[in-house]
Amino acid sequence: MPTYSYECEKGHLFDRYLPLAEYDAPQHCSCGAGSRQLILAPQIMVRKDIHYDSPIDGRPITSERARADDLARSNCIPYDPGMKQDAACRRAEADAALERRIDDTVEAEIEKMPSEKRERLQRELDGGMEVEPLRLTPGVKPLRVTTGHA
Ligand SMILES: [Zn+2]
Repeated sequence: MPTYSYECEKGHLFDRYLPLAEYDAPQHCSCGAGSRQLILAPQIMVRKDIHYDSPIDGRPITSERARADDLARSNCIPYDPGMKQDAACRRAEADAALERRIDDTVEAEIEKMPSEKRERLQRELDGGMEVEPLRLTPGVKPLRVTTGHA
């Protein structure tokens, strides 16, 4: 049923829930005075129907409020379609930054090499050898060393 708003002769504002068929039935204020109906811009309510059990603890979620509480309990935030894109951008930036750090580190290490070793490496690279930088963690043996000849 829609809600109609009224203003009585003494200036009180009030609302009535009425069936459509009675939309123009005269309404009296609680003070007893007659009233006129106010024309208000309709309230646009876009409410998604929420009805699911929380994947976190199985509680039934039936409102935005319950949903927000449920997400807060697990340190989550509501999903926004833009997030995926943002996350992809941040990941790409982080990857690019890591690549730059690796390149810088490799170059710095090559600079530190004795010139004879550096020249041999250069000859190998010129000869088509592929070098794949390995990230080494001190004390951890690399599982796989890949070198290839083109
Ligand atoms: Zn009144």
